[in-house]
Amino acid sequence: MSGLGKGVVTSSLLKMLDFYDYKALPIKFDGYLNYDCGTMNPYRHGEVFVLDDKSEVDMDFGIYERFSNLNLTGDLSITGGKLFGSVISKERRGEYLGEDVQIIPHLTNEAISMIENVEKKRKPDVIIIEVGGTVGDIENSYFIEAVRQLALKHPTLFINLTYAPSLEVVGEQKTKPAQVGYRLLLQAGIRPDFVICRSRDPLNGKARSKLAMFANISEDKVIDDSDTDTIYELPLHFMQQNFDKKLLKALGFSKRLNRRKYNSWKSSVGRIKNPKNSVDIGILGKYTDLKDSYASVKEALVHAGASLDTGVKIHWIESSDLERESSKNQFEGLNGILVPGGFGNRGTEGMIRGIEQARENQIPYLGLCLGMQLMAVEYARNVANLNGANSTEFDPKTKYDIIHLLLSQKGIESKGGTMRLGLWKCRLSNNSRSRTLYGSNIASERHRHRYEFNNKYRKKLEAKGLLVAGTTLDGKLVEFIEWKDSFGIATQSHPELRSRLEVPAPLFKGFIEAALSYKRSQRKISA
Ligand code: GLN
Repeated sequence: MSGLGKGVVTSSLLKMLDFYDYKALPIKFDGYLNYDCGTMNPYRHGEVFVLDDKSEVDMDFGIYERFSNLNLTGDLSITGGKLFGSVISKERRGEYLGEDVQIIPHLTNEAISMIENVEKKRKPDVIIIEVGGTVGDIENSYFIEAVRQLALKHPTLFINLTYAPSLEVVGEQKTKPAQVGYRLLLQAGIRPDFVICRSRDPLNGKARSKLAMFANISEDKVIDDSDTDTIYELPLHFMQQNFDKKLLKALGFSKRLNRRKYNSWKSSVGRIKNPKNSVDIGILGKYTDLKDSYASVKEALVHAGASLDTGVKIHWIESSDLERESSKNQFEGLNGILVPGGFGNRGTEGMIRGIEQARENQIPYLGLCLGMQLMAVEYARNVANLNGANSTEFDPKTKYDIIHLLLSQKGIESKGGTMRLGLWKCRLSNNSRSRTLYGSNIASERHRHRYEFNNKYRKKLEAKGLLVAGTTLDGKLVEFIEWKDSFGIATQSHPELRSRLEVPAPLFKGFIEAALSYKRSQRKISA
């Protein structure tokens, strides 16, 4: 079922193979009939993840990249919508002339050929296919059939991720749901080679032997996936059970462990678990009820923290709560404030007030996409005295349209895949903090937006002290802005989408460094 952590398991398999210098690629199958995730509500489905190539994909791709440090591509995301769409357009072109078009073989063959195309183009050593959903669902049934057939043509291992709930009353790990699952799986013609079992507590002997028996495998092929302190620990947890060696043997692989990669991962995990320092960061958002909608931001903070031996404690602040008048500093005890991306009017006035308080109290501030647009609006209103300044997304009639629709967006009505998306290069100015943090005057980051900074106000805000720290290469679009008096950086891009445990995003690292020194300076004041 969803929520078990299939994404983290897939990513841990990718990472284990990477520790042995094998090139593994993930493919994700999602049963829904949306073409991609671009039009889904983050409140229901979690964050929409964007790849370099402009694809808007399931948030699991974020987990894959954060573990594997690969830049993935949209062809690795196979949705029900893509499959049906492709079969139907082939039918219209007459590619199946004379035939009745059916789920088997047409749809299943389409799935198999999409997988084979990835193999042909990229030549990985292994492809790890994550089948979303639950065995027995209608949504993924044709995909389970496709992978069964795939195994007839290509060397294939099946790994089943199951779940053993612990019942408080009897204090026992139950395998009944898993047993029912195996009945369905075996009926579909698939026998697992390995079983990975999610559970709260370590898997006990009785549960293990039941799982093995019902799944038709030996007990040493049952792998424990009980709760770890951090998701990044899972590859190590698997390796403690020799899952790496068992997997390599099953694949017929013989390379040796790359100790350097393995040790560096292990020490990052150690710093996440037992950091020397800590900072408190407030995230002002409107989806704070569902933390999954900010998954990448959360993880980028973990990565930056791990690289600085600092634990980052996140305080979720519902921005609409800040809309009420208050003269006191509502960020007492926080060492940094972050405004992430977002769409729609709700909560934006609270975010603007929050940014104002951060600026006035010199609390480090990081703004991402919407967080940059509102940083510009706040500056316009409160420093440049452009009263009522706003983005036309929130106030179409505003007198000062500091943020307005991108020229390239005018006239676009269709909603799927039409924003300014994907990787764009940006030139950073020499005197900026951003330039120092990136260690280069070019930053390449991913984007997902329809609105932009209105150049009509650029001179005016610059004259009032706002630093335009980066623009697109042609100089036309403002991409980074900064405050000069204290640490405040915001970007139109989403640097959180390119942050990995092994390569933290430069702006996040700078932000956590600033939060640490802000914390020290506050301590001195109170001492
Ligand atoms: N809503 C804003 C826009 O479309 C910001 C988007 C975002 O934060 N991803 O430009």
